[in-house]
Amino acid sequence: MMDLTFTEEQELLRQAAQEFAETRIAPKISEMEETGRVNDEVVRALGEAEMMALTIPEEYGGLGLGYTARLIALEEIGKVSVATAMMLQVLGLGIEPIILAGSEEQKQKYLPGLASGERLATVAVTEATGGSDPGGSRSTYKKDGDDYIINGRKVFITNSHIADTIVALARDEEDDSGRAFSTFIVEAGMEGFKATHREHKVGMRGCNTGELSFENCRVSKDNLLGVEGKGMRVAMAAIGDVGRGGMVGCALGLHAACLEASLKFASERILYGKPISNLQSIQNKLAEMKIDLDAGRLLGYRAAAIQDKGIRSSNEFAVAKYFTTEAAQKAAKVAVDIHGGYGCMEEFAVSRYYRDAAVLGPSAGTSDIMKVIIAGWILKPYRK
Ligand SMILES: Cc1cc2nc3c(=O)[nH]c(=O)nc-3n(C[C@H](O)[C@H](O)[C@H](O)COP(=O)(O)OP(=O)(O)OC[C@H]3O[C@@H](n4cnc5c(N)ncnc54)[C@H](O)[C@@H]3O)c2cc1C
Repeated sequence: MMDLTFTEEQELLRQAAQEFAETRIAPKISEMEETGRVNDEVVRALGEAEMMALTIPEEYGGLGLGYTARLIALEEIGKVSVATAMMLQVLGLGIEPIILAGSEEQKQKYLPGLASGERLATVAVTEATGGSDPGGSRSTYKKDGDDYIINGRKVFITNSHIADTIVALARDEEDDSGRAFSTFIVEAGMEGFKATHREHKVGMRGCNTGELSFENCRVSKDNLLGVEGKGMRVAMAAIGDVGRGGMVGCALGLHAACLEASLKFASERILYGKPISNLQSIQNKLAEMKIDLDAGRLLGYRAAAIQDKGIRSSNEFAVAKYFTTEAAQKAAKVAVDIHGGYGCMEEFAVSRYYRDAAVLGPSAGTSDIMKVIIAGWILKPYRK
């Protein structure tokens, strides 16, 4: 029978993540908002609290708790700081290709440090030639003895300037089909690799997004991840399940925060001699936010439960990612509306939620792309 409740272990994790977010992240939010920079203490705290270890198998220093656990942690952290949840989501996304396709040596070398937070990861796929069309990526690699030489530029990369373990996708310069992509583990400090431009985003200011440059960057064959020429599959599997799943966690957290702030404000704001929560129009807005939040949770946790059974869930996550990010954006707009003029003022957290919500859409694929994926999935049996 289907069980839609958390286990005792998951509930304890939820409470621990909530307390962690309120005590270790909340006090740093205004500094992150003002500087637009990642807070080092927050990164350290995430490592100490083993938040990067959740999906890493125990034999490599992780907790092996799986993807439902990850979603729970991201939602709770996202309630307090969606920027921090976004940073954590991509730390996990960078780890996933190593879990999926890494050799035993690579797992031994990288995963323990990534679990403890000593190492920080990211995935570098997107290029200026179009994120929705990763096949259009122009970055190249070519073989040189036992090494590979990578050239190219990646854009919009989360954790660009904090990551030291970068899973980068490049195409085989010598392959005429244009379809031979490989993934490489590039380490910060390798010659020819540089984090360059830092973006200034409208929201999620406490997580870092920027560009990476590869100029004759030489990596050894030991840094090739998985089978040469099959790298696109590795990158897409990680983004499809873990990348989309992570964005669902961010969206659920933000949505829950919007609802909580709106309930509080509507109960305290007095108009016509009574709290505005007495107005039916306000009640309808609150009820709709709750309906969407619960529907999003069901979709997200369904996909994570499938993933925890070892079954690919990128289609289910496409449904959940579309629904939860769109719903969170709507919730952020309604939350600002419920706050009236106060919603436009920086002292009120909903103004931050509104800016953060704007950034939820593109990462791990836009809503248009989610619909392309969902249509492809449901039409598959009808294709002749
Ligand atoms: C905050 C943030 C963090 C990110 N982090 C990372 C990261 O860590 N690593 C990484 O590799 N990338 C990252 N990205 C990049 C992200 O994956 C891309 O932004 C996304 O895939 C969209 O690509 P694009 O921005 O080039 O838009 P485009 O692909 O140029 O899309 C432009 C518009 O065309 C629409 N469109 C495109 N194709 C279709 C289609 N087939 N049908 C209908 N409409 C379509 C899109 O929906 C969009 O509205 C991040 C992006 C952001 C904003």
